[in-house]
Amino acid sequence: MSSLIVGVLWFLLFAAGGGYLAYKRISLRSSTLAAGAALLAYSLFGAANVIWLLLLWVLFAGMVVINFEDIRREKITRPALALYRTLLPSMSDTEREALEAGSVWWDGELFSGMPDWDRLTSCPAPTLSDEERAFIDGPCEELCRMLDEWDIAHRRADMPAAVWEFIRQHRFFAMIIPKQYGGLEFSAYANAMVIAKLASRSTTASSTVGVPNSLGPAELLLHYGTEEQKRRYLPGLASGEEIPCFALTSPQAGSDAAALIDSGVVCKGDWQGEEIVGIRLNWEKRYITLAPVATVLGLAFKLYDPDHLIGEREEYGITAALIPTDTAGVVTGRRHYPLTIPFQNGPTSGKDVFVPLDYIIGGREMAGKGWKMLVELLSVGRAITLPSSAAGGGQAAAYASGAYTRLRRQFNLPVAKFDGVGEALSRIAGHTYIMNAAVSITSGAIAQGEKPAVPSAILKYHCTELGRKVANDAMDVHGGKGIMLGPHNYLGRGYMATPIAITVEGANILTRSLIIFGQGAIRCHPFVLRELHAAQDSDEERGLREFDRALFAHIGYAISNLARSFVLALTHAKFSRVPLATPTCRYYQNINRYSASFALASDFAMLTLGGKLKVKELLSARLGDVLSSMYLASTVLKHFENQGRPAADLPLVEWSVRTLMYQAQEQLHSFLRNFPNRPVAFFLRCFIFPRGRTYSAPSDELSRKVADLITQTGDSRERLCEQAYTTLEPGNPLGMLEEALRLSEELAPLESRLHKSHKDGVLKNDYLGYQIDEAEQAGIISADEAGALRDYHARVQALMAVDDFEPEALVRPAAEEPAKTSARGGNQAPKKAAARKKTATRRKSASRKKSS
Ligand SMILES: Cc1cc2nc3c(=O)[nH]c(=O)nc-3n(C[C@H](O)[C@H](O)[C@H](O)COP(=O)(O)OP(=O)(O)OC[C@H]3O[C@@H](n4cnc5c(N)ncnc54)[C@H](O)[C@@H]3O)c2cc1C
Repeated sequence: MSSLIVGVLWFLLFAAGGGYLAYKRISLRSSTLAAGAALLAYSLFGAANVIWLLLLWVLFAGMVVINFEDIRREKITRPALALYRTLLPSMSDTEREALEAGSVWWDGELFSGMPDWDRLTSCPAPTLSDEERAFIDGPCEELCRMLDEWDIAHRRADMPAAVWEFIRQHRFFAMIIPKQYGGLEFSAYANAMVIAKLASRSTTASSTVGVPNSLGPAELLLHYGTEEQKRRYLPGLASGEEIPCFALTSPQAGSDAAALIDSGVVCKGDWQGEEIVGIRLNWEKRYITLAPVATVLGLAFKLYDPDHLIGEREEYGITAALIPTDTAGVVTGRRHYPLTIPFQNGPTSGKDVFVPLDYIIGGREMAGKGWKMLVELLSVGRAITLPSSAAGGGQAAAYASGAYTRLRRQFNLPVAKFDGVGEALSRIAGHTYIMNAAVSITSGAIAQGEKPAVPSAILKYHCTELGRKVANDAMDVHGGKGIMLGPHNYLGRGYMATPIAITVEGANILTRSLIIFGQGAIRCHPFVLRELHAAQDSDEERGLREFDRALFAHIGYAISNLARSFVLALTHAKFSRVPLATPTCRYYQNINRYSASFALASDFAMLTLGGKLKVKELLSARLGDVLSSMYLASTVLKHFENQGRPAADLPLVEWSVRTLMYQAQEQLHSFLRNFPNRPVAFFLRCFIFPRGRTYSAPSDELSRKVADLITQTGDSRERLCEQAYTTLEPGNPLGMLEEALRLSEELAPLESRLHKSHKDGVLKNDYLGYQIDEAEQAGIISADEAGALRDYHARVQALMAVDDFEPEALVRPAAEEPAKTSARGGNQAPKKAAARKKTATRRKSASRKKSS
């Protein structure tokens, strides 16, 4: 054997051995021993070139040295730490608080490049208690029955008084309030299921119920309120006597909410005839949900203490307080009109409103801690209301679209049979499955005590975007039926509402560009936050020790991800460890593969771009997309297990995972294509796509199978739309569509008979409505059969019908002119609003008197 071949063989042996150690993340000590043994064998049996051998022993000596922590710390880590400190990007307090909010859960595993699947598979499937189930089947079902979105949106621009009363009476506003204060104390999962059900029926109702159960006064009080504040407000909030809202957004500060200019100045003032130290507040807020009808206003403002009445500091920063809206000077009452969806939303302002210090949520000690409170709570709230609304809307759209396209015929065929429509239907079903899975698994994790900050941002962004895609597709497959507004239109309002969910709780572009990866990279990375904390430790030696451990673990992790990404990409992850030997095991392997590549790409992005990554929003957005795809695909797999692995749903699982992992591949590719450091991008591409982009999106055949699942009655369709309000009763299009779909399946043999007779020329008419009479007269079908067909046909016709109006009926009385807005964008109509406010307050005191 020539010495070249021997050399190559030894090289391959070293590379394979090193790769194996890195792939398996074997410790530094064991790897050093293994490397020493291999080098000894090479020196004895393989070395031909002494210089080469010497070089290898020098390298090995370096490896041995880094096993000795004391030497390593002084010689390597200390200078590295000094350099790291000079490179650290500046971080404001608000950014730091956002980064440290919430907990790290499955997102951390995906960031590790080697996810420990037991962490996900061992999570119990979320369930409803008897009480929660009874609530959903009882009051929630009843509320859905009472809701008529046409009446609400078109006629009243509000929900009827009886609906408001029902919501209060059954404590829909109190799902998160503990029983000791009169609330329902539901789990996050039950809360999400209630919202999903309401959203399948009325966006107005789901938004109205969602807000008090999400980020609002009740949640803030429960976590940060003093006992006295809890006793004062929670019972009223639970009974619905108090209506809450939370006002953060102002005309100047939308996405950059922390830049608000609303102020509170600590000063002395008159309070109920006594001079006290309190706060003089000035604010101007907009877009505030429930503000027009709120009785208690959660307010975010910046607190100042120029006269040092409460301490040494002059500026305290963002502070949150609860202010009864009947306090002198508080202006509420006017309404915005969010895309014709008339849930209560409007501006609020206040000029020199004086309130006691104990209106601060949590009392004086919480002065300046408002931002921290908000981002902590957002790490939970963001995962529930908007994602479950999107999932509920998706379920309704899937249920309706599946049946409608099966019943609606063109070119003598149900339109569902056309591939173009089928493709849209497969997206409706698949995207709804993804939303369901994400909501169920994440709310289940929250119910188990997690506060998953990054997953909640992923859910907020992706579920609302998927909701918009589903709404678009549902509109398309319904044709004109979706466009013509009126009592018979069950889609149009939901479609119009989709941008609302996209804008609230952090508009989506920002959530994608800045939050998901921006927060995830530091929060979920196994070492970055540890390194950051260590670098900022005031105890120099302790910081150095911790930095040293984190840094070397980080280097090992990066080397391991190089090996893992390369091997997993080369083998299509076929041999990687997965938790289950089920038909879905390949999808777990796909996620393993992308997890390693993502971890590798993230590390190199942070290493080479440092603080600049923050402004390279598109790069960080794409990495966020990869993380999101893996997270959502994992929830799909877990959801499938939680539902008992129903074999019939496998096409949905495959479609969802394929769609998501294909997106992961494409986003990684775009990331590399746009990475500014081209040599690094080339290097990464060799380890991430050594075989090119090999992952495929769902095939047409798979899409057809998925579409079939929602165009036929059956368990898969019911499971997919489990929370939707589908009860069969007049006024519920979903129930009636399902009934007609069942009839169409029962009567399919009769329809085929007519079809065949028509093809044979026995029946002359093309249209089913006429064929029935003709076939009955020709004796092709019996009188009973003709009756059944006529009944079915009439039902279908009614479902296909759209509304028309006398021209005058569409003219609405001239509306009051909108308030004039100042150049600053604020609402300048406090007088009228104040007058309205007085009336509302009078109404409220009257109702209090009545109840007492
Ligand atoms: C129906 C509705 C209900 C609401 N309810 C409430 C409520 O109850 N309480 C409350 O306090 N607020 C509420 N909001 C406010 C909501 O949270 C804000 O609208 C939202 O934060 C965005 O602010 P903005 O509308 O001023 O958009 P802007 O901040 O003007 O943003 C415009 C666009 O720029 C993008 N953008 C901004 N900065 C960046 C960046 N750095 N990187 C990338 N993109 C960026 C945004 O994503 C958006 O697409 C509500 C809003 C709506 C529409």
